Amino acid sequence: MANKDYYETLGVNKNASEDEIKSAFRNLAKKYHPDLNKTPEAAEKFKEINEAYSVLSDKEKRANYDQFGSADGPQGFGGGAGGFSGGFSEEGFGGFEDIFNMFGFGGRGGAQAQRREEGEDINISLTITFAEAAFGCEKEISITRKERCKDCNGTGAKSNSDYVTCGECNGTGRVTLTQRTLFGITQTVGVCRNCNGKGKVVKNKCASCRGAGVKTTTTKIKVKIPAGIDNDQVIRLNGEGHQTASTNGIPGDLRIAITVQPHSLLVRKGFDLYVDAYAPITTLILGGKVEVPTLKGTQTIDVAPLTQSNTKFTLKGKGIKYLKGVGSGDIIVTLKGEMPKDLDKNAIKLVKELQNTINEKSYPKTNNYTKKLN
Ligand SMILES: [Zn+2]
Ligand SMILES: [Zn+2]
Repeated sequence: MANKDYYETLGVNKNASEDEIKSAFRNLAKKYHPDLNKTPEAAEKFKEINEAYSVLSDKEKRANYDQFGSADGPQGFGGGAGGFSGGFSEEGFGGFEDIFNMFGFGGRGGAQAQRREEGEDINISLTITFAEAAFGCEKEISITRKERCKDCNGTGAKSNSDYVTCGECNGTGRVTLTQRTLFGITQTVGVCRNCNGKGKVVKNKCASCRGAGVKTTTTKIKVKIPAGIDNDQVIRLNGEGHQTASTNGIPGDLRIAITVQPHSLLVRKGFDLYVDAYAPITTLILGGKVEVPTLKGTQTIDVAPLTQSNTKFTLKGKGIKYLKGVGSGDIIVTLKGEMPKDLDKNAIKLVKELQNTINEKSYPKTNNYTKKLN
């Protein structure tokens, strides 16, 4: 092993302080790091720098080196830990730790590849009327979200000249560490923490967003509510959530949870509507026309003579439009016979006559018909 001049390698004089040595090492390591400098000489040079630093940064080794020309003192001279060619001794890793700190590696996390910035989702709820849900509508809603600053286009810099290439990673956004371990040379790739992987840093901050690159903004958004939507369903607008500062980032989504106000008469189950319709008892006996509520006002249905109370009628295709696909559900009408609230003497006499006239046995005495459609 040649007896090298470690001071010369680091470009410092023999009286250099610890800080001067550290600073010289950092500058040279950045210059010759194999991942930042691809020239063939760089790797060899980097090895030398590391070797020099591993000795000169250690008080005892430096003293040995100064006195005996070897970090190992007199015994180590020309032998000792000579198994390691070059300067990658155990202690040499101290230099790597330094690089770790310098480049902001977060231990194991440093090995992860950089992910695209993602904006957060926004969750809101929106209440609409029964008719709006049935027929669909367009709503304008106000949301407050982070939006990319228009003044700096998300850079957070005051001007273009304030947005400069990161010195730590030379604009790559990534730093690679080469380590010698018992298993050979390993490389670790990490996000440059100085620039958070952007490859650029801000000198003077944008006044509008104070350097954040995003601003909290209240924005109006038009939302198309499709016909057929139901309670507790969610409309998702991709990319309408929080934006990222990075133009390369993915904005979050806007999720709108729908609440539908109930109808005064119609009860929705799926795409069908259920409603009770009332007719005088005489209409059920004699037959006639009955008005039933629908989504669009009322519809008249024909009731045959002797229609039982609670008979169900289906109005095909008059229900809620299918959210997906063609067509609509039904309206299921349950017809209820109503009694008059009061009868005069004459009416009571006529009903008594009716009672005596109708054969008792002609009453079906069943409630089966009420379950016909259930
Ligand atoms: Zn950087
Ligand atoms: Zn800005």
